[in-house]
Amino acid sequence: MAAKATTTIRQGMNYQPEHAAWFAANQVLFNQVAAFYFEVIQAHEKILDLGDQDALSALEQLTHATKKNPHPVMPLSSIGKDIPAMFRRAAIHAALGAARSFYAHLKKWRTRRAKVMAKGKKFLERPPVPPRSWNTSATFYYGQWKGRTSSSILLKVWTGSCWSWLKVRLTGRELPNKAQAGSPALLQRGGQWWLHTPVEKQFKRPQKIETQVSTHADTRICAVDLNLTEQIAVCTVQTVEGTILATCFIGGGREISGFRKRQLGRIARNRRKTGIIAENEQDNAARWQKIQRRDDHHAHLVSTRIVQFAQAQQASILVFEHLGNLKPTRGKYSHRGNTKRTFWMKGRIFRYAKYKAWNEGIITSRVSPWNTSRECARCQSLVARYAQGQLEEGYTSGAPLVLCPACSMRGNADRNASLNIGQRLVARYKKQAVQEKPPTPLLAKTGDQSSALPPERGSKDTGVVVCQEVKSAEGPSIPSTRHADANEHGTAQGGSLRMEKRSSDIPCQLRLFTE
Ligand SMILES: [Zn+2]
Repeated sequence: MAAKATTTIRQGMNYQPEHAAWFAANQVLFNQVAAFYFEVIQAHEKILDLGDQDALSALEQLTHATKKNPHPVMPLSSIGKDIPAMFRRAAIHAALGAARSFYAHLKKWRTRRAKVMAKGKKFLERPPVPPRSWNTSATFYYGQWKGRTSSSILLKVWTGSCWSWLKVRLTGRELPNKAQAGSPALLQRGGQWWLHTPVEKQFKRPQKIETQVSTHADTRICAVDLNLTEQIAVCTVQTVEGTILATCFIGGGREISGFRKRQLGRIARNRRKTGIIAENEQDNAARWQKIQRRDDHHAHLVSTRIVQFAQAQQASILVFEHLGNLKPTRGKYSHRGNTKRTFWMKGRIFRYAKYKAWNEGIITSRVSPWNTSRECARCQSLVARYAQGQLEEGYTSGAPLVLCPACSMRGNADRNASLNIGQRLVARYKKQAVQEKPPTPLLAKTGDQSSALPPERGSKDTGVVVCQEVKSAEGPSIPSTRHADANEHGTAQGGSLRMEKRSSDIPCQLRLFTE
């Protein structure tokens, strides 16, 4: 079966300076019409029980005068005369989307409130509010645009006084040939108007993770450990069997958190001065936005690099940890705020990476974060975590190095965690196989051979991505073609053989997790 992925093609536009005012007027009208339909929906909530097509008909019935329907209940003509049908429909669609989202949130809020009230407690959470102001970009349905070529398009816009066709030249990336293009939208960014067109790509639906893991021993899994420290993301690629193929450190955490801390510090100082706590205080609002934009930009950069790395390593599965709950931290306002923002950013990196990966046919999953940093990726004993120059014992949260007292594995703590995350996904689907197998004995070794995890790499100070391939010291001696052929129907039998073979450089045993 085919799968779909949507991406957006962003094109610049060449237009006369005075036309910028038309685009702005067009957007204002679009938002007025959308806001109007939101109100109509609020007055007729039952419309939301209908599918989009029926909801559209119902809304037009309520608002649009025709010969058959000369006096609609809430006439759109109160907003503007002669609004083209396709303009109206695009605005209705925007209003429906916003209304569905708003009422879904409201419903959840009511459920939470009922739960809390049933326990006889006070419910303090404020209800979601409908959008107070509308600032959606105007979508152009076919009829509002025509004559699209690779370098130009005709748009029908509201100039502020009339409807007018306008030809604009397009610059930048062209629409891909085979992709299905959706309705373009006009957006203003940085003083310029852009045309954004969603395009749909079809590709072969990737196999389910379970199928990939249980039937192909050479399936490559890219596991990602997200951090609060300098290395924002540490990615490792390993096969289902446990052969470690590559590691990638994505840095820049210190820079982003430093920037954020400075901004938060300034906000805190402002608050002390003015005694105002409100986040929307003018001066601070700009700072919040600045932080927001930087974080978002960074989340995009990091997620893109993660997916690029996974692609380059031919991984077909991407796996993260569940984020868990935000733990309250002590300390200064700027510190607490920073921790909170880092937590949100992790969520954003995950979301962005998930859709970017899907666009490349890579499936994303999450595993339990329980002890991923504390266990040895090779033998699952508890590790010592420490910083350079410290005693190699105990567990210092956030320290960069690990040493496994049981198997002498040494290495980077985040990389060890990343490997554990990947193994945990495999373990989820291999419970059966493991239960049938006797535990593989652990070989206590000394010297170089035992160091499964290579020592830390050097340049960590620059915020530059350091990618490094780590070929496993002893690859499987069985030709890889045999894996694929012999293991079509499960890997339990061949698994133990291969695992013994590589007991020196890979985790030898998969454990059980209750998730
Ligand atoms: Zn170990």
